[in-house]
Amino acid sequence: MPDLSMEKLSEMVMAVARDKKFGITPEEVNTFEKFALIHSEISEAMEAYRRKNLDGKDGLAEELADAVIRIMHLAGVHKINLEKEILKKLETNKNREWKWDELNEKHS
Ligand SMILES: [Mg+2]
Repeated sequence: MPDLSMEKLSEMVMAVARDKKFGITPEEVNTFEKFALIHSEISEAMEAYRRKNLDGKDGLAEELADAVIRIMHLAGVHKINLEKEILKKLETNKNREWKWDELNEKHS
């Protein structure tokens, strides 16, 4: 498997979007619909996990990949450099403190 950069993956996602006529500009897509479709992939991933389908057809791995592809497509449509934004956010998170006692969230 080739070692791909996020930029190269984004180019591949947008090439498929162009070829399949999914839309590559904000004018060509319904951004709100794309958010809903990202949500649906996350729901599919949760259901796959619930059914203990981790890496089969429609499994957790495949559904997470679907979600990331849809996110990369939406970012590409809006000319967002996801690699840059992820690196920036990771840097922010390094110094961030979470108040776990104020959240109803399980973690370890
Ligand atoms: Mg899916």
